Amino acid sequence: MVDKKEALAGLDDGAIASAQKSAESRKLSGKYVLPLQNTTQQPDLVSLTDRTTREALFNQSWTRAEKGDANDTRQTITEIAQLRAEKAALFGYPSFAAYTLYDQMAKTPAAVNDFIHQLVPATAAEQHREAAELQKAIAEDHQSFTLKPWDWNYYAERVRKQKFDLNQNDVKPYFELHTVLTDGVFYAATQLYGITFEPRKDIPVYNPDVLVFEVKDEDGSPLGLMYFDYFKRDNKSGGAWMSNFVGQSDLLKTRPVIYNVANFTKAAPGQPQLITSDDVTTMFHEFGHALHGLFASQTYPSLSGTAVARDFVEFPSQFNENWAMDPKVFAHYARHYKTGAAMPDALVAKIKKAAHFNQGYALGEIVAAAQLDMSWHGIAADAPRQDADQFEAKALAETGLDVANVPPRYRSSYFLHIWGNGYSAGYYAYLWTEMLDQDVYSWFQSHGGLTRENGQRFRDLILSKGHTMDYGPMFKAFYGKDPEIGPMLAHRGLTADNK
Ligand SMILES: [Zn+2]
Repeated sequence: MVDKKEALAGLDDGAIASAQKSAESRKLSGKYVLPLQNTTQQPDLVSLTDRTTREALFNQSWTRAEKGDANDTRQTITEIAQLRAEKAALFGYPSFAAYTLYDQMAKTPAAVNDFIHQLVPATAAEQHREAAELQKAIAEDHQSFTLKPWDWNYYAERVRKQKFDLNQNDVKPYFELHTVLTDGVFYAATQLYGITFEPRKDIPVYNPDVLVFEVKDEDGSPLGLMYFDYFKRDNKSGGAWMSNFVGQSDLLKTRPVIYNVANFTKAAPGQPQLITSDDVTTMFHEFGHALHGLFASQTYPSLSGTAVARDFVEFPSQFNENWAMDPKVFAHYARHYKTGAAMPDALVAKIKKAAHFNQGYALGEIVAAAQLDMSWHGIAADAPRQDADQFEAKALAETGLDVANVPPRYRSSYFLHIWGNGYSAGYYAYLWTEMLDQDVYSWFQSHGGLTRENGQRFRDLILSKGHTMDYGPMFKAFYGKDPEIGPMLAHRGLTADNK
């Protein structure tokens, strides 16, 4: 909360008006209240020019659940951690992480911790490089203070604007939704897997904007149905996801009926349906889950398609994202909606370069959070009840990352994923699946890329398997070795020898 409008300099008029409204609704007239979202960094920190306001906002975020009031969660989380360790001991496991990882691909806390440790050197090196760059931007701004977490996003935005400002209005004319779907998403799937898509206007839909396609195998036999529900509506949940209306099962003699949902902004009537580069990625991502469901070939529904471990389920979807920027696929769908012209090379280069910006921060905050999760769930049943602040400080200090400038994406006291949302000893899964998808994409690259042969191999050995075998052997059967982090770091613009 701030008393003066000047303290909010940098925010747009709409944000200032809503901060004023927010204060009024709390009967704090003449004041301004900024919202907090559930991550350590706050969106307003990109724009606020007053450093005192930035610091105050950051500190409110960091200590939101540590104020000694009714919303202080520290006693609760230390009790949860202790009870989970006791539960694991009842099942004969040394820690909750060991208990919960047994049916995941990683299998053991040691494998997860080893994976996290491998990511640290390149991430820390990039964090130091980025911090130095931001310190320079601070000097160029005629300031003499030392960079702090509340300055990071503000100065990163300045650097980003100077170096890689990618304007979505420049790229959108090349991304028309129906062209992206048929000439991009479907095209890649046809090249890789031989499947084709026939529009089915005769099948009932729950909203007139929903598209339905019958998916056919290479020999023309039916594989399943695909529904696409892409547009934002007032009564629709946010975000994007894939699920099944009907799951595949030989036992029940059912073929998959799958839907992809997103929340794209619908164009005005008569206007072309243009989307952003993030939307394009979302379409390829959700369709990657759909392929995992369509190619399912299991007897039992509980092991079919996407019914797989947390540290495996995002592998097919993230893998499919790669085809969005694959030169052959990109050239096929990214065409100007009016002229049909290909996107200029300079603009394509800008999209690729922008993806590498600020990755020391982006990766570092997730690695730190993943380590915090593993530390809390590595506690032994006979360990004493922990002190939340001391435990967290020690766990973060041991990461080897620049946690002073790049704090974890979630602090222990507001890490909802691990305490309440089923990601206990599982937050690493986001990074683990990235390792898998980048490693496999690099395999494709070194074996000729977008070919039917490569696609068939991926379908036979990964996409059609569901959870009918362990994931480690499944990966190895495809690749001939265990997954490695090199391609993932390269994809983010970091390299292992970047130290
Ligand atoms: Zn996903």
